[in-house]
Amino acid sequence: QIQKPKLILDNGLRLDGRKPDELRPMKMEIGILKNADGSSLVEVGNTKIIAAVYGPKEMHPRHLALPNRAVLRVRYHMTPFSTDERKNPAPSRREIELSKVIREALEGTILVEQFPRTLIDVFMEVIQADAGTRLASLMAASLAVVDAGIPVKDLIAAVAVGKADGIVVLDLNEPEDMWGEADMPVAMLPSLGQINLIQLNGNMTPEEFRKGMELAKKGIDYIYNLEKETIKNKYAEFKEEA
Ligand code: ADP
Repeated sequence: QIQKPKLILDNGLRLDGRKPDELRPMKMEIGILKNADGSSLVEVGNTKIIAAVYGPKEMHPRHLALPNRAVLRVRYHMTPFSTDERKNPAPSRREIELSKVIREALEGTILVEQFPRTLIDVFMEVIQADAGTRLASLMAASLAVVDAGIPVKDLIAAVAVGKADGIVVLDLNEPEDMWGEADMPVAMLPSLGQINLIQLNGNMTPEEFRKGMELAKKGIDYIYNLEKETIKNKYAEFKEEA
């Protein structure tokens, strides 16, 4: 068994050189796939996710359609080459659980009542995993839904906070996720001030929790702006082409 490494170095920096309140570099793009109605690429550090959305379309089999709203079908999946050892491509219990967690967080943001009797299919593929894949996937899904032209209450912006060597840190990397004392993914609808996903693995004192939420909100503000820029840039591209 591997020994837990020191997560916070003597100079106060983390193993990847970040300060405790620093995000990883991020990249977002929409409209990257030609065959899907909506798509996106989200990179958070080395974590890389592609999302694709189909719909709203006719629901098959018909008896599964709902008379008053669209059905949302969501799949989170890790490619066999996304981890350091080949991952079995069959969906694991973890992937089935995360698909459900992501569906529940995404569902509340989409105006499903506007599309009765239809199906919206959302696929997320983890291309490379380096912690934070559920949140990067959720953001990728949110962007791909918007790219598909489906109306939403707000975009989802999300980041994990946690505790490493007793220090509250923003946007956990893989060693911090694996060895840290706490891992708390937080997703928000920032302009509505709503939290739509929060989980906690590990232990934090009330004071650490408050500090963590403060860091998460700061990170989410930055990420939300990046999302809005990503969408604006795409529309600017269309305008130029026209
Ligand atoms: P999240 O990716 O949302 O942080 P977890 O906390 O379950 O979800 O996973 C943390 C990290 O552990 C993942 O991002 C990934 O880097 C790694 N990981 C998860 N599942 C596997 C797996 N089957 N094989 C190798 N690494 C994995």
